[in-house]
Amino acid sequence: MVDTDKRRLFRRKYVKPGNLPWLSEPQAFSQQCTRCGECASVCETNIITKGDGGFPAVDFAQGECTFCYKCAKSCPEKLFSPQSTKPWEQIATISNQCLAKQGVDCRVCEESCEPFAIQFKPQLGSVAQPTIELDACNGCGGCVASCPTKAITVNTIDIQNI
Ligand code: SF4
Ligand code: SF4
Ligand code: SF4
Repeated sequence: MVDTDKRRLFRRKYVKPGNLPWLSEPQAFSQQCTRCGECASVCETNIITKGDGGFPAVDFAQGECTFCYKCAKSCPEKLFSPQSTKPWEQIATISNQCLAKQGVDCRVCEESCEPFAIQFKPQLGSVAQPTIELDACNGCGGCVASCPTKAITVNTIDIQNI
């Protein structure tokens, strides 16, 4: 006989929220989000896509978050914090796939960053190297799609490793 309680638990297992801005309780997201799709339909840059299990998830390969707050306003389940609070704790990081780190002159990402969080520092014996200014990066993801080698990802800040 099928244990329905166990099956329900399995269905409602924790799903990592797809980094939506202003999520008030990320841990409870998969219990409370009904997957209605409202947030995705109003997103002005169409970056909210269907992630794991059909739950909404931000995909920076599609574009950047403009912090318009439309997703939060549209949610019937009230899963989002007030607009006056910080939207998320995440920043961009650049991997070794970066062309500059391989000695090739490339500054494409610098131009895509409106808050000027990507700085290129001269390097002896090599091309200028990119660094992310932690205080300036707002995690908007605008740099992600610009990188020709997909070297940039936006990740939750690990406070312990800063
Ligand atoms: S704040 Fe605006 S641009 Fe950002 S994910 Fe929400 S709806 Fe999209
Ligand atoms: S609007 Fe709210 S309940 Fe609907 S899919 Fe988006 S986060 Fe989930
Ligand atoms: S995530 Fe946004 S603010 Fe941060 S480096 Fe990329 S473009 Fe700049």
